[in-house]
Amino acid sequence: MNFTASLLDSMVGVGDMVLLDPLSEDSMIKNLKTRFNQNEIYTYIGNVVISINPYKPLPIYTLEKVEEYRNCNFYELKPHIYAIADEAYQSLRDRDRDQCILITGESGAGKTEASKLVMSYVAAVCGKGKEVNKVKEQLLQSNPVLEAFGNAKTIRNDNSSRFGKYMDIEFDFKGEPMGGVISNYLLEKSRVVKHVKGERNFHIFYQLLAGGSEELLKSLKLVQGCSKYDYLNKDPQSLEGMEDADKFQTVKNAMEIIGFSDVEVTSVLQIVAVVLKLGSIQLSNQTQANGMDSCYVTETKVLQEICQLISLDAGILENALCFRTVEAKKEKVVTGLNVSQVTNILEKKVMGVLDIYGFEIFENNSFEQFIINYCNEKLQQVFIEMTLKEEQEEYVREGIKWTPVTFFNNAIICNLIEDSRQGILSMLDDECLRPGQVSDATFLAKLNLAFTSHKHFEKHVNQTTSKQKTIPTLSQCFSIQHYAGQVTYNTTGFVDKNNDLLFRDLSQAMWKAKHKMLSSLFPEGDPQKVSLKRPPTAGSQFKASISTLMKNLYAKNPSYIRCLKPNNAKTPSLFENNLVQAQVMYLGLLENVRVRRAGYAYRQLYEPCLERYKMLSKATWPRWKGNAREGVEVLLSDLHIPSEELAYGRSKIFIRNPRTLFQLEDSRRQRM
Ligand code: ADP
Ligand code: MG
Repeated sequence: MNFTASLLDSMVGVGDMVLLDPLSEDSMIKNLKTRFNQNEIYTYIGNVVISINPYKPLPIYTLEKVEEYRNCNFYELKPHIYAIADEAYQSLRDRDRDQCILITGESGAGKTEASKLVMSYVAAVCGKGKEVNKVKEQLLQSNPVLEAFGNAKTIRNDNSSRFGKYMDIEFDFKGEPMGGVISNYLLEKSRVVKHVKGERNFHIFYQLLAGGSEELLKSLKLVQGCSKYDYLNKDPQSLEGMEDADKFQTVKNAMEIIGFSDVEVTSVLQIVAVVLKLGSIQLSNQTQANGMDSCYVTETKVLQEICQLISLDAGILENALCFRTVEAKKEKVVTGLNVSQVTNILEKKVMGVLDIYGFEIFENNSFEQFIINYCNEKLQQVFIEMTLKEEQEEYVREGIKWTPVTFFNNAIICNLIEDSRQGILSMLDDECLRPGQVSDATFLAKLNLAFTSHKHFEKHVNQTTSKQKTIPTLSQCFSIQHYAGQVTYNTTGFVDKNNDLLFRDLSQAMWKAKHKMLSSLFPEGDPQKVSLKRPPTAGSQFKASISTLMKNLYAKNPSYIRCLKPNNAKTPSLFENNLVQAQVMYLGLLENVRVRRAGYAYRQLYEPCLERYKMLSKATWPRWKGNAREGVEVLLSDLHIPSEELAYGRSKIFIRNPRTLFQLEDSRRQRM
């Protein structure tokens, strides 16, 4: 197999965008489309892989494929996610560098599938011992559990992750996995109580009802069928084709494999049941037309059942109950499940796999989108900085003059959001902590004042004229010009969501429950531990975890998987140009190619280069007696390739323009 052929096969476009000629957003999209139509869903930009969701099973994830990619050099085979996984794993094992794989893209683009493919590749190529197999099994089985509790059907994706996930796998010196740590970021808690038509709540609720045995459901005081539960009965159609019953068994097994005891599994399911049943109590509240939420008692039966499940005095719960409870409690359920096994062994190497929600622009963008997009803004920053750095390092290593490229630096947008004194998040915190009349409106007014002349901030004044009424929605909004485009955020709810306070009496009630797992989820409910310090805001917690994540990423050797969604219909063989173009823009892919070929589009070690093209010159054919570098020099000057097209590095030849490479390839083909 040879490297260039797989990259230059004209039937399927070019396998590496760095070789596109001419380079433009259009030519990139055309190339992706050509490849997609041939089922070539992977395309490189240097060592970044772009993946387009095929929305159909492809026969490219077999064990034979794993074997092909195993121990092969990156460029020797067709672009594939396995090549990235292999590269990361090899350099972890052989060069002792911690790795991380960053997977980005919008919802439904294939991020979670990609992370699973990476994990299963690593699991397939690393050691086979008994202990190792156990760890591998646990790592792989963490997925169904996390997905049951953290994923839901959305309009964009039937299995959409509603939380960010960062998974570290730890390896011993032989390159065998020892354990893993999974961190979650910002679960979309509000989904428990509310989701739009066509979407669903978290999978686990449906799975439990569909797959739990009669006996189990009875013990959990649940009845079969979603129609009985207010949180689930919004849209019967959304139940179709989800195989909930089967999945329930998978999830239960997986929980056992990753180390939950029977008692723990039961405890978790009890909490799930409690959350569901709390929804029924809520229903009775909402029937109160006067808007007062005082009438819990109409649902005494449900209330009592809940209290039996968690061994709590019904009166205590009754007094403490409120709407906010439920939202907050779901978070606790999920964080409680975030049990990870860490093996205590020194000298561990680490490979991280990051799967996080992509950039989101909806019609109405709220605090959640603001946070999600902030996260993506930060990821873009790492991406640009690391790619540039890596490119620069190669040039230095090879002793080649570095030509600086101009690129868009999004630090200014990150600062706008996260600056510790004058950023939007800190201003929101200030507002939340300030005594007196605090509202979303006062918060917005402060933003508008502070950022009047900020290049990436746009304020929306009341568009009033003497005749026109105010447009209330727009006047509650501000816009940010993100690297990926402009997004308008509605500030309604920002203050409340940032406060994210669990009423103290409620956590105290939960702490009093004799249900061990539940009470352990509310340590702040312990009256002896109640501190006067205010709990951190949602925004500052998230900022802190992003910052930890960034430190983690900067310390590792990153690889990138950029996922694209070909259409919104979740259907195979449909490539919508406009949709792909928007994503190519969001992900800054053109920028990425530009950075990658800053100066030189193509590079190759001297030996393979000479081997491939020596037939083009009498001076080097059939055998060159000197060293490879001199051979390449003689060869290329014999072919009259202008010297400004080339740079001779310590171990590699650099070619400025893809056209030069194509010329070489053409001549070679003519000779054969
Ligand atoms: P994301 O995590 O980016 O929101 P997912 O990874 O959940 O998206 O992918 C959505 C769906 O698309 C999957 O459930 C699967 O049906 C399909 N899909 C994604 N990647 C692939 C792939 N490589 N091959 C086949 N189908 C895929
Ligand atoms: Mg996902």
